[in-house]
Amino acid sequence: MAEIKIVTEKCIGCKLCVSACPFSAIEVEEKKAVILDNCTLCGVCVSSCKFDAIDFQKDETQSTVDISSYNGVWVFAEQKDGVPNGVALELLGEGRKLADTLQSPLSAVLLGENVGETAKQLIAHGADNVYLVDHPSLKNFIDESYADIFAQLIETYKPEIVLLGATTYGRSLGPRVSSRISTGLTADCTKLEIDDERKILLQTRPAFGGNLMATIICPNHRPQMSTVRPKVMKAMEPDSSRLGNIITPNVKIPENLKTKVLEVVSTLTEMVNLTEADIIVSGGRGMGDPKNFALLEDLARVLGGAVGASRAAVDAGWIEYSHQVGQTGKTVGPKVYFACGISGAVQHLAGMSSSDTIIAINKNPDAPIFNIATFGIVGDVLQVIPALISEFKTQLG
Ligand SMILES: Cc1cc2nc3c(=O)[nH]c(=O)nc-3n(C[C@H](O)[C@H](O)[C@H](O)COP(=O)(O)OP(=O)(O)OC[C@H]3O[C@@H](n4cnc5c(N)ncnc54)[C@H](O)[C@@H]3O)c2cc1C
Ligand code: SF4
Ligand code: SF4
Repeated sequence: MAEIKIVTEKCIGCKLCVSACPFSAIEVEEKKAVILDNCTLCGVCVSSCKFDAIDFQKDETQSTVDISSYNGVWVFAEQKDGVPNGVALELLGEGRKLADTLQSPLSAVLLGENVGETAKQLIAHGADNVYLVDHPSLKNFIDESYADIFAQLIETYKPEIVLLGATTYGRSLGPRVSSRISTGLTADCTKLEIDDERKILLQTRPAFGGNLMATIICPNHRPQMSTVRPKVMKAMEPDSSRLGNIITPNVKIPENLKTKVLEVVSTLTEMVNLTEADIIVSGGRGMGDPKNFALLEDLARVLGGAVGASRAAVDAGWIEYSHQVGQTGKTVGPKVYFACGISGAVQHLAGMSSSDTIIAINKNPDAPIFNIATFGIVGDVLQVIPALISEFKTQLG
C-alpha cells in the first residue's frame, strides 16, 4: 500500500502543495502541511514541494503472476443476431497493429448462438484466430455467463492484452472479467500503443474532466485490459481471402444463472444509432427551446443523418440522453458533424472532435467551437438551419 506523510521538520508552510493537490486534500495548519482523509495517494503534490517535505512511498507490489507466459492480443467480438458491432471490427483493426508490433497473434473471442459465419467476418477484419463458443444459452448477452466463459478462456489461453468496446455490454463484461482474474482494466481509452522498451501496453484516456490525457500501464498483472469507445479506432478494410483458425474451446457452460432473458425489446435508443451515423446534426442550448429541435430533425432527415445533442440540451430535458455526444455521452466520428448552438466545451469536443468535417453554427464569433470547426457560420440557428434545409432540399432533389 502506498503511503504519504509530511516531514514536519522540513515543511515551512509555503502552501505550494495545497494548490497543487487536485483533490483539496492538503491544508496548512500552524505553518505545517497536513494531509487530509480524502487524499487519493495520487502523488501529484510531491513535485510541488521545493523543500523535499513530502515523503511519498509508492506501492511497489510485485506480481506473483508469471507475466512471460502470457501472449497474444484478444478482442471481444460483441455481436447481435450474428452481426458484429462496429467497435469490435475497429478493435480488430487496432489490435492488428498492436499484435504486429508485439509479433504475436490477434484473436477474437466470439460468444453466441449460430455465429459461425460471424467468425469468418472477424478473420476478414484481421483476426488470426477466433475462439468460438456457440451455444443456445449464449444467444443473448447475459453478463454472468459471458463473464464466466471469458474468464475461463483467459485462464486457459493466457492472452497478454484484452480489448473490449466501451459499449453497454463491454462496460458490464470488462470489470466482471478483470476482477475474476485479478487484473486491471483501463476504461474508455482513446489511444493504445506498445512501449518500445518494456513491450507493455500504454493505455491513454482523458482524465480530470478531459483537461489532460493520462497514460496508464498495468506492469504487474496480466492480461492488460482496456475498453475503447466506438468510433475512436479505425477498422481494416475486410479481406475475405485472409486465412485464420476457428478454435472451439472446451469450456464449462454456466448453469443456474441468476438472470434469465425472457424477451428482447428494441428501444428507441438503439434506433437512434448515433455512433454509426455518417452525418450528425447536433443541437445545444443555443437552440433556445425544445420545439426548435424539430429543425434539427428536419435537417437530419434531408441529409439522411441522426440527431445529436450537447449535455446542456439533454439536462434541459429537450432531448433524451441517448442523443448526448461527449465525455459522458456517446463518442461519434461521422463524416459530417453539425454543431448548432453549441459552444464547444472540452467535454463536448471529447465526443466529436474526430469527425471528418465539422460545421459550426453559432451567433457568437468567439465561441470555442469555431477553433475546431472546418466551416463556421456566424448567425442565428433559427435563421441558418431553415436556409440550409431549403438549400439541401433543392440540391438533393
Ligand atoms: C464531468 C462533466 C461531463 C460533461 N459531459 C458532457 C458531455 O458528454 N457532452 C456535453 O455536451 N457536455 C458535457 N458537459 C457539459 C459541458 O461542460 C458544457 O456545459 C456543455 O457542453 C454546454 O452545452 P452547450 O454548448 O449546448 O451550451 P452553452 O455552453 O450554453 O452554449 C450555447 C451556445 O449557443 C450559442 N447560441 C445561443 N443562442 C444562439 C442562437 N440563437 N443561434 C446560434 N447560436 C446561439 C451561444 O453563443 C453558445 O456558444 C460535461 C461537464 C462536466 C463537468
Ligand atoms: S509545499 Fe512543502 S514546504 Fe510548502 S507547505 Fe507543502 S509540504 Fe510544506
Ligand atoms: S497525494 Fe494526491 S490527493 Fe494526496 S495530498 Fe498529494 S496531491 Fe493531494
